[in-house]
Amino acid sequence: MSEPLYGVPHDHGPLLGPLSPPLIRSTTSGQPDADTLRAMGAGERPGEFYQRLGHANARAWESVVALHEGADGAVSFASGMAAISGALMAHLKPGDRVLLAEEIYGGTSSFALADLARFGVVVDRFSALDLGGLRAQLARPAQWVVFESPINPTLRVADLGAITGMAKAAGARTLFDTTFAPPPVQQALALGVDLVACSATKFYGGHSDVLAGFVAGRHELLGPVELWRRRTGAVLAPDPAWLLLRSWPTLQLRVAAQQQQAQQLAEGLVAEVRAGRLLAVSYPGLPDHPDRALVARQMRGGGAVLAVELPGGLPGAKRAYDRLRRIARAPSLGGIESLATLPAFTTHAALSPEQRARAGIPDGLLRISVGLEGADALLADLRQALAG
Ligand code: PLP
Repeated sequence: MSEPLYGVPHDHGPLLGPLSPPLIRSTTSGQPDADTLRAMGAGERPGEFYQRLGHANARAWESVVALHEGADGAVSFASGMAAISGALMAHLKPGDRVLLAEEIYGGTSSFALADLARFGVVVDRFSALDLGGLRAQLARPAQWVVFESPINPTLRVADLGAITGMAKAAGARTLFDTTFAPPPVQQALALGVDLVACSATKFYGGHSDVLAGFVAGRHELLGPVELWRRRTGAVLAPDPAWLLLRSWPTLQLRVAAQQQQAQQLAEGLVAEVRAGRLLAVSYPGLPDHPDRALVARQMRGGGAVLAVELPGGLPGAKRAYDRLRRIARAPSLGGIESLATLPAFTTHAALSPEQRARAGIPDGLLRISVGLEGADALLADLRQALAG
């Protein structure tokens, strides 16, 4: 195989020269002769040529992602949705069948139901929490199983080993969205999934200032993804790639600290439940989490996202939400700034209250992404919001 045009695992070792990598914005690069120009245009050689075909800043970031995810390589994209849609469009053809988890990011389900279906791909649903249902769906041929864990916004945890094992046995491949808990919390490729996709807008970026995504896995599956990116132009630009390289060295530290503060906050909120001021807390790191055996097996800690059920249904939740002083009222997650969303108002607004209740999403649910402000400050903010 010729050298891939995306980043492969590369431990950069001691830095030589500038410690912060140069940002190369040039969209095109001069070549020494006609033969080189032809070979680079044909994608036979990596290197600086024309930015849409890949560039040094993106490849440097892809290299560290591949190393971190335990992948042969990584292909970066302009957003998480560009990565997820790119992975699927690169591998599917009309007549193929995709099994899509019910519990999946709304952007992924909109894309699958609207666009994949438009191109003749059959999309059937399964619950990532119901292995029997998945087994029944796999009785008919399927090419891909698409799912994520921990599940948004309930923070339930799907069994990665069982789902990938069942898919493999049925001849289907798995695409796993690792956005909510990237390594070191969860190493999805080591747990058997074929491809991981991720919104790097979240933990990988970590500072709420970059929109990006990637697909990582084995070379044989990444080649078509890189070709798709090249043909559609969904490439990550140099500036966000540079910001991701800036964020990279602190990823493990940030995630560890955010996770530790989320654990502390969740424990503090359990006391609020006991005192009758909150209805429930869901966090994979709590000892009474319904999937604690899976958490122990496939995660290192509970991640940095939790959910609480506020009293008073939607009006009560809105009242408390509008009183938050420290935690931002904003979509997204994974950044060093804590923020919160009301799923009934945002990600799951299209469902009726009954549909939400069936999906385990009460109207009073508040999803919190824990940043680095300190658990005590966040607990105090939630307490004052509830007291109003
Ligand atoms: N996957 C999950 C689980 C997400 O939460 C999001 C965004 O919120 C995405 C994918 C899409 O990522 P992006 O916004 O970077 O396109």
